[in-house]
Amino acid sequence: MSLENKGKKGRPIGKTGRQAYRNSYRNDLYEDGSASSESYYSLGGDHEQAGYRRPAGSSYRRTGSDAAKARRRAARNRQAQSGRRNTRNMSARRRAARRRRKIKNIITLILLLLLLILVIAGVIFGVKKLIGFISGGGDIAATMSVEESTEESYTAPETTRSEQDIILSEADFMALQYDYDGAIELINSNPEVAASPEGMEALQKFEEIKAGLVEQDITKITHVFFHSLVVDEDNAFDKDKWGKQADGYNQVMTTVTEFEKMLDKFYSDGFVLVRLHDIASMKEQEDGSMTMTKGKIMLPEGKKAMVISQDDVCYYEYMKGAGFADRIIVGDDGRPTCVYTEPSGNEVTGEYDLVPILDRFVEEHPDFSYKGAKACLAFTGYNGILGYRTDETYDPNSDMYDEEKKANTNIEADRETARQVVRALKDAGYELASHSWGHRNYTDISYEHMKKDADRWDKNVNKELMNGECDIILFPFGADVGDWHAYSHDNAKFDYLWDLGFRYFCNVDSAQYWVQLGNDYLRQGRRNLDGYAMWQDIANGKNKLTDLFDSSEIFSDKRPTPVPGY
Ligand SMILES: [Zn+2]
Repeated sequence: MSLENKGKKGRPIGKTGRQAYRNSYRNDLYEDGSASSESYYSLGGDHEQAGYRRPAGSSYRRTGSDAAKARRRAARNRQAQSGRRNTRNMSARRRAARRRRKIKNIITLILLLLLLILVIAGVIFGVKKLIGFISGGGDIAATMSVEESTEESYTAPETTRSEQDIILSEADFMALQYDYDGAIELINSNPEVAASPEGMEALQKFEEIKAGLVEQDITKITHVFFHSLVVDEDNAFDKDKWGKQADGYNQVMTTVTEFEKMLDKFYSDGFVLVRLHDIASMKEQEDGSMTMTKGKIMLPEGKKAMVISQDDVCYYEYMKGAGFADRIIVGDDGRPTCVYTEPSGNEVTGEYDLVPILDRFVEEHPDFSYKGAKACLAFTGYNGILGYRTDETYDPNSDMYDEEKKANTNIEADRETARQVVRALKDAGYELASHSWGHRNYTDISYEHMKKDADRWDKNVNKELMNGECDIILFPFGADVGDWHAYSHDNAKFDYLWDLGFRYFCNVDSAQYWVQLGNDYLRQGRRNLDGYAMWQDIANGKNKLTDLFDSSEIFSDKRPTPVPGY
């Protein structure tokens, strides 16, 4: 109700029922037709008439208006004219009139107090809106009390500032890993942060970097691979202890210290880890078909995309005690790490293979990873995966139980643990791949043999432990199911693997890079960075790895030489 309307009470101002109601409501309030201000000031007069004594000099003495005084005078005159016989009636009417005026004045006072509260709330709301605009504050209830609003306007800037810090540092981290669009989107998702000086500065910075990015030529992405890393070189390379197995370790394995030296070199040379799924991925086309579509990897000038993979992440039974990790577990921090048995028999947890070493390296150098990418890990099936004997051939209750194997009576729990590690690896940025079930040469074996092997892997690893989501195969021995020509579905082996869900196929190739983007698949060559390859560079001048590093600076002096051939 506006002040203006109060002065026009008693006069119909509209024809609708609601307006009529309002008018009658106002008429009830102001039945004597006096102005609201007069009603307020006449309050003092009522008290006076009721014999109320106020202290001399009090401001209340001045509250009677001329009009009220006139009304009182007129009333006194009317009283004198009507004579004493009406005294009882008149005093009763006066009491009634006083009550009416009293009620009227109380209602007026309440209305004015409500108005005052509304004005105060409005001012507080306005101030809060202003503070909110400046600091990105949240919603403010217009009805909050003065105490509440004072408290909130004091704490709100601190709360919102820390929220802003979180958003900006998260955006910085995303930008460090080349996800500039994600960083910009994150800041813009909070308009207050986007409008803050820090937010605007970050947005401008990311846009500037974006403008200078260079699209990677996906056909020139190098892919390097490793096997389980040697932790204890004296042990693994001990030919007296391991016989021909020690030669194998010397040939195809890389040591922890060599791997760490390589990471330093890759990083300082500007390499950035990407996923196979970043290079290309199956995308729905306008006609509804799915096509393997080139990825758009944008990196700053001088940065080069690289894929890392690791084969046989199974911690095979034969490797037990030879100076390698035993298994991958989910650590106390929820991240994958390794269990390793020291020569004393003491079990320890930590950086004993590629996964936790790479994780720590990327943590220290976030810009070594494109959008959190790490490595691609490949598993056979016959010994289970990740160090857990999960295969059905270990299950004494299975028709497939292999009596030559030590039964795993804990197989269900081990499968569940393996599933948890798989999830932790995916969360940490790893891609997972098949490496066949029985480490078979898919070039040489028959279609029927390959089909049987691939089915066993699909059942025991993909469906049992990986939620059936695997779409990468890293061929054992690099033995591909086709030559360098593009795959065709007329190729029965390729067609069968494709039907099982594989879309990424990696062989081994000594070229710096080899990428083939098919209509419905991606194929890439990989390079082994192991003892034999390094020795060939060092001793035979092959220089196959010189684009990556000087092998003599990496090669461990604990390796027996010459490193025997495959
Ligand atoms: Zn292998």
